Amino acid sequence: MTLILDGKALAAAMELELAELVADFIQNHAFAPCLAAVLVGDDPASATYVKNKRLACERVGIESRLHRLSPSTTEEELLQVVATLNNDDAVSGILVQLPLPTQIREQKVLDAVHPLKDVDCFHPENVGLMVQGRPRFLPCTPHGCMQILHRHSLPVAGKHAVVVGRSEIVGKPLATLLAQKDSHLGPAACNATVTVCHSKTSNLAEICRQADVLIAAIGRPKFVTAEMVKPGAVVIDVGINRTESGLVGDVDFEAVKEIASAITPVPRGVGPMTITMLMHNTLAAARGQVA
Ligand code: NDP
Repeated sequence: MTLILDGKALAAAMELELAELVADFIQNHAFAPCLAAVLVGDDPASATYVKNKRLACERVGIESRLHRLSPSTTEEELLQVVATLNNDDAVSGILVQLPLPTQIREQKVLDAVHPLKDVDCFHPENVGLMVQGRPRFLPCTPHGCMQILHRHSLPVAGKHAVVVGRSEIVGKPLATLLAQKDSHLGPAACNATVTVCHSKTSNLAEICRQADVLIAAIGRPKFVTAEMVKPGAVVIDVGINRTESGLVGDVDFEAVKEIASAITPVPRGVGPMTITMLMHNTLAAARGQVA
């Protein structure tokens, strides 16, 4: 029987654990960790993501602030907002919701977030620490995927993991975490042999079929078909695609679940875990700032 990896249920369970840790933090320090979200423009999907993150803050006891800026905000204005939040001792973590309007260079803004408040783990200093295996923060979506595997007792050590997608946000850091020598989740949660695929990969289907653990982070609805999956493989679907028939992942869930030993659905898969890992990082940021 195929195991459906219910990220929503896992996220809810981990939120309860986090709520206790946040309550301890508040008791010890007499203030709550605080996440400041910056939302530029009026993209409905971005607004939904930010709303869901604020609701998660409420559930775990983290304070949240929302800075809503107009679509015509200049790069200079946004950098000024980030600088103000960097200097505000009451703010533990800063989240700049992507994508940003085209007049703003995303990299420039993400680089401006203080590394100790960089709860998305996008700052080069934090990416460097993560690659070196001594992370300050773990990137939220990759960490969510690792937790889904770990908490369902699905070890990756010694397995062939194929990651389709090499973005800075998902594919590249996830491949790095899977290949690390050690992890806070233990050596079984890393030490995979990792192949990274992308749009220029030849024989993509053949490489995917060799995967014990197949991770799709592509952004193309139902791209991974049953023919691309080895029987018994574990399949993690990071994709979130808005189609006329609703949200679908990068994996053809109905067909692939007949072949895989375990698979994440979309929705209720990686998405909720991403938000929980953001809560985890906000608490870690608050702890780091009082240490
Ligand atoms: P990007 O667009 O930044 O990266 C997509 C990657 O997929 C690129 O590396 C690209 O290759 C590769 N790719 C595109 N087409 C193909 C193809 N035909 N064959 C092989 N590889 C291909 O996307 P993200 O990484 O930011 O996001 C990926 C998906 O995950 C999206 O659906 C996004 O919405 C979702 N997502 C979900 C999150 C969650 O919480 N569940 C969080 C973040 C993202 P190349 O580099 O060559 O262009």
